Amino acid sequence: MPRSAVPLFAAAVLSAQALYAAESVEVRELRLWASTESTRVVLDLSAATPHNLFTLTGPDRVVIDIPDAHLTDSNSTSSASIPGQGLVRQVRTAGREDGSLRVVLDLTERVQPKSFVVEPNETYGHRLVIDLVGLNTNVAVKAAHAPAADSRDLVIAIDAGHGGEDPGAVGRSGTREKDVVLSIARALAERVNREPGMRAVLVRDGDYFVAHRDRMRRARDKRADMFVSVHADAFRDRSVSGSSVYILSSRGASDEASRWLAEKQNASDLIGGVSLDDKDDVLASVLLDLSQTASLSASMTAAERVLHELDRVGEVRKRAVQQAGFLVLKSPDIPSMLVETAYISNPAEEKRLRDPRHQDKLANAIHAGIRGYFHENPPPGTQIAAMVARRTAAARGVATGGSADHGTD
Ligand SMILES: [Zn+2]
Repeated sequence: MPRSAVPLFAAAVLSAQALYAAESVEVRELRLWASTESTRVVLDLSAATPHNLFTLTGPDRVVIDIPDAHLTDSNSTSSASIPGQGLVRQVRTAGREDGSLRVVLDLTERVQPKSFVVEPNETYGHRLVIDLVGLNTNVAVKAAHAPAADSRDLVIAIDAGHGGEDPGAVGRSGTREKDVVLSIARALAERVNREPGMRAVLVRDGDYFVAHRDRMRRARDKRADMFVSVHADAFRDRSVSGSSVYILSSRGASDEASRWLAEKQNASDLIGGVSLDDKDDVLASVLLDLSQTASLSASMTAAERVLHELDRVGEVRKRAVQQAGFLVLKSPDIPSMLVETAYISNPAEEKRLRDPRHQDKLANAIHAGIRGYFHENPPPGTQIAAMVARRTAAARGVATGGSADHGTD
């Protein structure tokens, strides 16, 4: 009896292996993106497939098992290790006897992992995305929040659009929006930091993807007084050029182009997968309505100043601030604007966008607009409010001194 059982069993294993080999999912590439707070691991897959994720401690690891899968480049050993980034020290992979592929992320600290599957888009096929948020980092960030001083710096959150998996628009010569807007955002941050009483926070300072709502959340975590999103999108008509400034619209886009753009911007959140918490949307929209009127009018005033400054350094597409339903601008409490510095689809503008001197000009213009706005509308308790008050007092003092010359003495 046992004699016949052995070959039968072996045959079953063989046929199962043949089945796996035929349907096995290929893991074609493994990519990592690291920001200061989180790390994203992306696996490019040949097909959608279920996976199992769990964490282990001592040392800290995240393990992802994908049934019926193998690495495309795997040789006979089918195991590999690649150096990590951010919260991941290294990534190890190994094919297992049951035909599954095990991916182990060796970590630098304990993390909160989140995984989801993303559908194919123009650039990528099926992807399995694992987002890791460091638990220690989070604590450190919270502890770093200093209590408000007597007169505080104004905080300007500068958001370079797109990044990582999302290149943004791509010009005819291959210029990627995510790269040029990061350069402009960094130049702007430098200028803001040189300004007394102001401090810049870069929402992303590297080539990684941040979901729209996380961008706003980061700005809010840093207690930003203003949120400026920097873009250089494409338009279907390549002859269109010039800068535009947008603020959030409560009633929908003010023109067809802004509607089109808003759709594009909002669609890029799909790259982040299921990160939008739609459960809270009803409550959120009520709260938004309550506080948005005030911040919209502040956004409009500030955006008009920025548009005016951009008009001085180059061409503007429209002389009025546009309104559109950008997700990235949906903050109830922070005046926010989205600056389309130029159209990367326009060949002349694409060339200018790559030029560091032009990037500086754009950054200078945005900075001048923001500065002008805050010197006219300084939030109470800020150094700028104190500066403006001193200036006003000095001006009054001069006036009083002048009148004293013609006094009753
Ligand atoms: Zn963009």
